Amino acid sequence: MKDLSFEAQMLHVPYELPDAYGALSMPVYQSVAFEFDTAEAMEAAFCGRSSAHTYSRISNPTVQYFEQRVQRATGAFGVTALGSGMAAIFSSFMTCAFAGCNVVLSPHLFGNTYVLFRHTLEGFGVEPRFCNMSDPVEVASRIDGQTCALFLELISNPQMEVADIAALSDVCRKAGLPLIVDTTLVPFTAFSAADFGVDIELISSTKYISGGATSVGGLIVDYGRFDWSAHPILSRWGTNGRDAFSARLRREVHRNVGAYMSPQVASVQTLGLETLGIRFERQASTALELARRLRSTAGVASVNYSGLEEHPGYEISRRQFGDLPGAMLTFDLASRTACFDLINRVKMIRRATNLFDNRSLIIHPASTIYGSLSEDIRLAMDVRQETVRLSVGLETADDLYDDLSQAFGNF
Ligand SMILES: *Cc1c(COP(=O)(O)O)cnc(C)c1O
Repeated sequence: MKDLSFEAQMLHVPYELPDAYGALSMPVYQSVAFEFDTAEAMEAAFCGRSSAHTYSRISNPTVQYFEQRVQRATGAFGVTALGSGMAAIFSSFMTCAFAGCNVVLSPHLFGNTYVLFRHTLEGFGVEPRFCNMSDPVEVASRIDGQTCALFLELISNPQMEVADIAALSDVCRKAGLPLIVDTTLVPFTAFSAADFGVDIELISSTKYISGGATSVGGLIVDYGRFDWSAHPILSRWGTNGRDAFSARLRREVHRNVGAYMSPQVASVQTLGLETLGIRFERQASTALELARRLRSTAGVASVNYSGLEEHPGYEISRRQFGDLPGAMLTFDLASRTACFDLINRVKMIRRATNLFDNRSLIIHPASTIYGSLSEDIRLAMDVRQETVRLSVGLETADDLYDDLSQAFGNF
């Protein structure tokens, strides 16, 4: 038989052990602990000489099956499922950062991620070095002997800056640094991170993967490409340099931080994975059509979506994602008041945060997600008062356009 398509692979990953009842969907193993026949078998499991499950903070069959599905879909070396996207980011840097190191990163970050680096991790002696990711020369100039990683978002939210991953991977390779990318905005059905040189991919599975906003979750996808042999801490882990990150993550950080995904969440997100590809294609094509229509809508000053030819990231976006760079777009209106008026007048679109629910969601980022930051920091992050963010769901482009038009008073 020929190699299975991506879609078929997502549906037919075998279980590690046969299910006693032949359950077609992976059961939810709602159990904290797992029992052993002998003291010797228990010793082997606790000391890492067997892969038997012991305790659900460390591993659980339902969560492991979800991890295996993601592993199959991405071709990754190691996948770890966490309780949230933030837990995935935090756990990754607990694994590779250390007091006295610095992380070179973009200031164009999801709000909580920005504060994690700017305050939480800085308190542990990890210096955040913000720089302009669209300028590889500047990025290279910020790297020194204490830099532990380059970190950025694939498409930044809500600025919609599209990172040139191949160019940044080149900077990393020359400097001997790992490239860690939050790819939440374009799922792995549409963007193959390893092909562009990403070493560690971080995903908020809350968004596309959860299957329509069913649950909060996160993923660390380690491609096993980076050689950590010269790393101050990770050089002591693993067997060949390339497995060091996952070795420390799984054997130390993950079990001691205690942020593993729950089996219920893994079960619904496994179901979400099965429809990820078709939901993404539908939502992203609606986003593209809507972006095109909004361009010529009275009241809209500009539309920010990298699938539009005039977007500064259009060429990079095409190279990396083809025609469909995701289901989130932003547009600018005349003022903050105009944004609030629009948000107050929509009838079908829901006033809520989150991305890639099956329903379309609208929000004013500056006053909400970034509302607790000072105006100076907001401006440094390019989060403007005039910007509205729309996450496009499974409604049609007509449904969405009609709702926005009536809210603009254009009918
Ligand atoms: C939502 C989001 C996160 C955080 O994920 P949670 O699952 O909410 O913790 C991180 N990065 C990006 C780009 C996001 O959109």
